[in-house]
Amino acid sequence: MKILADYHTHTIYSCGNNENRRHAKGTIEENVLAAIDKGLEVIGISEHGFDHNFYGLSRKNAKKEREEIDRLNKKYPQIKVLMGMECNILDDTGRIDMPDDMVHYFDYILAGYHYGSRPTSLRSILHHIDNFLFSGRLFSKKYNTRALIKAMERYDLKYITHPGDKGQVDIVEVAQAAVRTNTGLEINGHHNRLSPEMIRAISHMDLKFYIGSDAHKPENIANFERAYEIVEESGLDPARIVNLVKD
Ligand SMILES: [Zn+2]
Ligand SMILES: [Zn+2]
Repeated sequence: MKILADYHTHTIYSCGNNENRRHAKGTIEENVLAAIDKGLEVIGISEHGFDHNFYGLSRKNAKKEREEIDRLNKKYPQIKVLMGMECNILDDTGRIDMPDDMVHYFDYILAGYHYGSRPTSLRSILHHIDNFLFSGRLFSKKYNTRALIKAMERYDLKYITHPGDKGQVDIVEVAQAAVRTNTGLEINGHHNRLSPEMIRAISHMDLKFYIGSDAHKPENIANFERAYEIVEESGLDPARIVNLVKD
């Protein structure tokens, strides 16, 4: 299979204001060059969302990132560079951290659940704790499932990143909502989600599967090795993955 696009990559802009390179290592241009090197047609930059306690794009940097991406599209016409965002799914109302006044900067939106996103209520703190300590096994599976479904219903999301990672979900219910809302689900080798078992449980549905590298350094752009193993183990026909084409 040939890789057309990698929509899930991070740069130093995911490190917040200080650009300390602790969370992600490469610049946007370094990601673009790595993507050109790997023969991609499209590279998506998808920093973490605004409402995370420890990392994520700052509002100030959103404008800078847009300008930088526009500049790189002129400099490297052989590849299309898109500005995405990996928003945090904040609670079971489906709220994500994409303010109305910022959305115009972005070409597409991904969303996923992460520990450490800013709590929206005491209840959301309790679920963060259950997810952090027990992967949501105690009392959060329904809450997590609802959070993903409502996010897909409320926003136009390209796909959900690493569904069911960091907090259990009912993957069949999530997948049904994904079909209904025309949202993709990601196979993310970095987080082992979707897992082979999850894919087997939902592959009969008319779903859009994506593979994302979740690269936090340029050399991992389009590194789908582990994701390919998951696909093989699951028995999913790779031709069903939206961002791959047959050679
Ligand atoms: Zn993530
Ligand atoms: Zn990510």
